[in-house]
Amino acid sequence: MDFAQTPEMESIRGDIRAVLADALPVGWQGSGFLPMDIRPEHRELAQALDQKLAAARLIAPAWPTEYGGRGLTPYEQFALYEELGNALAPRLTTISVDLVGPVVILYGSDEQRAKHLPAIANDATVWCQGFSEPEAGSDLTSLRTKAVRKGDVYIVNGHKLWTSMAHWSEWMILLARTGDDDSRGRGLSLFVLPMSAPGITVRPVIDASSEHMLNEVYFEDVEIPAEDRIGEENSGWKYATSLLQYERGDALLIGQFSRMLRDLEALTRESGASEPERRALAQHQIDWEIGKLLTLRVVSLHAGGQLPDRESSQAKLFMSEAFQRLGMTAQAITGEFGNLTHEDGRSRLGGRVVQALVNATTGTIIAGTSEIQRTIISTRGLGLPR
Ligand SMILES: Cc1cc2nc3c(=O)[nH]c(=O)nc-3n(C[C@H](O)[C@H](O)[C@H](O)COP(=O)(O)OP(=O)(O)OC[C@H]3O[C@@H](n4cnc5c(N)ncnc54)[C@H](O)[C@@H]3O)c2cc1C
Repeated sequence: MDFAQTPEMESIRGDIRAVLADALPVGWQGSGFLPMDIRPEHRELAQALDQKLAAARLIAPAWPTEYGGRGLTPYEQFALYEELGNALAPRLTTISVDLVGPVVILYGSDEQRAKHLPAIANDATVWCQGFSEPEAGSDLTSLRTKAVRKGDVYIVNGHKLWTSMAHWSEWMILLARTGDDDSRGRGLSLFVLPMSAPGITVRPVIDASSEHMLNEVYFEDVEIPAEDRIGEENSGWKYATSLLQYERGDALLIGQFSRMLRDLEALTRESGASEPERRALAQHQIDWEIGKLLTLRVVSLHAGGQLPDRESSQAKLFMSEAFQRLGMTAQAITGEFGNLTHEDGRSRLGGRVVQALVNATTGTIIAGTSEIQRTIISTRGLGLPR
């Protein structure tokens, strides 16, 4: 493991902060809890931020220069995520950069790389992820959306659920059934398809805080050209699991966590804090250090050309649960004002306390629940039987 803060990391942080200062209003308190949880009134701002990051070649600095990156390392990509999180930046390209890009780089054809990577890095193309279904979340291999090959195309029929940002996306990365459950690779294949394809219907799913990030997506005889399949037919499960380990090793919560911690410290300096609150803040600082080290371990594996496995699960499990503990402390410190949303001028931290209480629960579900992460750690990490 190499946790060094390289000069390149420090220099890129300066570039990122300059873009953020230019793109975000003074006193910006974020939009939703997750970077892709963007309220409609902030969509243009999020688009403008992505465009400014793209113009500075900062959408995906670790990607090769021919694909619109800066050819830097995963450490600089980590620095980007940390800065974005710290600034509470909305990010429409979360799935594009964190999930789609790495899988296309690893498993896509030369044509797919040349088409999709520059479109993300230079034009901030927005992607969504069509994996989960009503009867297939943790047990993704039981998914039922079917892609049946007919000549040069696949015909897709089925129904996806919890598809974040599908209503704003131009492209989807889709996991669909092309073979039998017990076939090699569990009969799943991975595809890319434009959301404008005939036969796709997107319906909103409104969450517990009345926000619209999630959707249902219906497919009725949707045609996907065979060249838009990623890798081999029926090998999609292998590609999808590596994609999920990218998603789980995500560093965004690191920046967001330290921002909330600093903001809470500032509040307690103003109004005073009880002994238990001070102790809790110290514990959260320790949590942050641990979470950062766990995340940097994932980054270090990427930097060494290795695919992370249970290491991503450890980082994701720890940070998502740590954020929920931080939310409880935030509420204790801010009292009933902390329960007010951003719509009420008396709310604390622009409504982020109630977000940390309500929406942070999604952190232990999205990208695989805590139970699933614990199973991965115990079986693939500790070698325990299933
Ligand atoms: C905010 C948010 C955004 C999301 N965005 C997307 C997206 O963009 N694209 C997408 O494809 N999906 C998305 N998801 C879906 C997410 O991946 C699933 O919700 C998650 O994998 C859990 O699946 P499920 O909801 O079907 O719950 P289930 O799998 O039904 O689980 C229900 C409960 O049973 C437990 N459980 C299930 N199986 C086991 C087991 N084997 N061992 C122990 N416990 C078990 C779970 O831990 C959980 O507590 C999103 C979810 C959220 C909350």
